[in-house]
Amino acid sequence: MSDSGSERHFSKTYGEARDKFLDAARKAGAQVESLQNTCASGPDGEPLYTDFARLGPAPGEARAVLFANSGTHGAEGYCGSGCQVGMLRDGMFTHLPDGVTVVLTHAVNPYGFAWGRRVNEDNIDLNRNFVDHDAPYPDDKGYDKIHSFVCPPDLMEHKEKWDTELLAWIGEHGMEAFQEAVSSGQYSFPDGMFYGGAAPAWSNDMWRATLKKHGAGAAKVIMIDFHTGLGPSGYGELIGLGGSEAIQRANSVWGSAEVTDLQAGASSSAIVRGDLGEAFFQQFGQAWTAAVALEYGTLEMAVVLDGIRQDNWLEVHGDRQSDLGKQIGQNARECFYTETDKWKSDVYERANWAMDKALAALADQET
Ligand SMILES: [Zn+2]
Repeated sequence: MSDSGSERHFSKTYGEARDKFLDAARKAGAQVESLQNTCASGPDGEPLYTDFARLGPAPGEARAVLFANSGTHGAEGYCGSGCQVGMLRDGMFTHLPDGVTVVLTHAVNPYGFAWGRRVNEDNIDLNRNFVDHDAPYPDDKGYDKIHSFVCPPDLMEHKEKWDTELLAWIGEHGMEAFQEAVSSGQYSFPDGMFYGGAAPAWSNDMWRATLKKHGAGAAKVIMIDFHTGLGPSGYGELIGLGGSEAIQRANSVWGSAEVTDLQAGASSSAIVRGDLGEAFFQQFGQAWTAAVALEYGTLEMAVVLDGIRQDNWLEVHGDRQSDLGKQIGQNARECFYTETDKWKSDVYERANWAMDKALAALADQET
């Protein structure tokens, strides 16, 4: 179903993406629900929503459930939204297997989606926020050693100087150590990068409630969480979430050659703590479960990390309306989304494949 023309499913703004999703969901006969994020609003003061399209048996009546989400990382949602819209329009869910429900969650982090940021309204990386906030936070993997030159107040004034310091650190410790330090997640610098927060974010509570409501009573549950920004351009890596048994189940769904083991360090991503999968596996501990982040490449990692770094500076110290601010915003957008028909068509094709495999696994009542 991924023939040419799939670029029409993708959007240029959060508002356009939302309209397309709601329209496609209604036309596909889905049950539609919207939850407003009352903690934030959009660039023009507009209200922000996470929207849901449910197809198949009602909550509590499904034998198996497939969750497919866009926009956990805000601006990355342009990719996942386009795929969700395309799948609804192309009739992927018209003949679902018996007892199988599909729940498409649009804009898990609507603030980041609308503002073109990866993080939420509190500068929180949602995929580092699903930790136990009452327990001591995980080790920050050295973020405290790099924060001073990664996020200085005068970053854009003295970019060369700070880049030289950063490159010297990488020269000494290696790129892998830098990726780990900067992106594993940290809980000490609210104005820093990959900040995991000090409490559950609005989207965290919303996501837990979504799992509880729509997954109630299901014996088999699969999650595909759409992401962008890591790996080769246009390629979708299936990053397996959860422990080794969950990875084995993911292997049985998509093939062991296709799934990388995040916790074993086999992925293009650093090992992270507190992703959406944590809530997923906590909620469905008694069920058969498999979960992946479907991570599509855009630009080189160093470019993406610098784009996130500049965007963080802009939010904390800069002016979004200035020429520099607009340029940084545009660059950040390109870190998470590629405006070519080829990229969109590759992305959509892979999404269809991954969803088909998940539905086939849920159709199987033996497991
Ligand atoms: Zn992401």
